[in-house]
Amino acid sequence: MATEYLDIPNCPKCTDGHRYKLEVDRALVIKMLTMSDMSERPRQVRITRLFTCPTKNKEFEARFILTDTSSNRINNVKVVGIADDNE
Ligand SMILES: [Zn+2]
Repeated sequence: MATEYLDIPNCPKCTDGHRYKLEVDRALVIKMLTMSDMSERPRQVRITRLFTCPTKNKEFEARFILTDTSSNRINNVKVVGIADDNE
């Protein structure tokens, strides 16, 4: 599990910006590197999750994009909550 952060600049509930903390579960696949792996471009994975606006305390759905590669697959993404200001 790795902690990653997501900025939502325009909250649909209050139009303010929020910073969320995500737990991203990535599967590290160990394999021999081939030439095609060396030139592999990161894949963009679209993820839709429910977020809670801390100002209005209402849920909204947002779609965001994370990148992975064939040796670093995203298994699961969990929204932990609002990130602290110093994170
Ligand atoms: Zn909001």
